[in-house]
Formats: sequence, structure tokens, C-alpha cells
Amino acid sequence: MASEFIAYCGLYCGACSFRVAFEDNDRNHIEHMPMYYNYLKNKPLEFCPGCRLENKCGECTIRDCAIEKKVEYCSQCNDFPCDKLKKFSNDGKPHHGEAISNLNMLKEIGEKKWLDLMKEKWTCSKCGSKYSWYYKKCTKCDADDDGLY
Ligand SMILES: [Zn+2]
Repeated sequence: MASEFIAYCGLYCGACSFRVAFEDNDRNHIEHMPMYYNYLKNKPLEFCPGCRLENKCGECTIRDCAIEKKVEYCSQCNDFPCDKLKKFSNDGKPHHGEAISNLNMLKEIGEKKWLDLMKEKWTCSKCGSKYSWYYKKCTKCDADDDGLY
């Protein structure tokens, strides 16, 4: 099975606001999510093991489709990138915009290197604290990391 940090759609689960907030016990992190996630902001901070193990993102047709087609992630599918995935990637949510390029990269460099790169991208190079999709600057130190978005 693919790493639980790689969602079927190509998102890096390690940068999920909920995961980071849970691990750091930092509700403030959740508050930085865009307004359209307001309905989620009062939920208790809980651990989400990722959509491969237990889907807490809610209904996901991409996940259902990948499971049905028996692919580890969408880039292994003959239809990649399909209209469903393109629509997802262009729905205006900033992190969804990276799904297809993430999957192309995954195809090119393989899981291990991909995970290393993502981890590096979403970690403060100065103090090692974690970034999330909506927290693009370090909140723990005054590092001015670039390369994010
Ligand atoms: Zn830092």
C-alpha cells in the first residue's frame, strides 16, 4: 500500500491543517483555514490517519474511483488526468491546485523521494516546525522561508 501521507488525488496529507493542528495541539492553526471551512473549525482536534485508512475528509469521489480502479493514486490510472481530477484541481481551493503536478512528480521521482521533498517543503528550515496548506509562514520562529507558493 502507498504511504498514508499520499492521498489518492496527490495531496500531501502531512500538510493538512487538521493533522498539523492535532500534532501540535494548536487550534490557531485551524483558524487560519479559509472561510469556506468555517463549519469545520469548531470540531475537536482529532487525529486523521489519512484517506487510505479512514476517510475523515468526507465523501470523496476521487478516492472511491481510485479504489474501484485498484490504483494506489490517480497517476497510475490510464485516464490520468481525468476530468474529475481536473475539476478537483481547479475548484479554487489553493492546495487542490497542486494535485496534478504533485501526481506528475510522484510518477517521475517515486514515493520515497516525493515524500522527502514534501516533508522538506512543508517544514520550517530553521526550527523544524510544520507548515500546513494555509499556514505558509513559520509561526514558531521568525524564519522567512521562501519557496512556498
Ligand atoms: Zn521556524
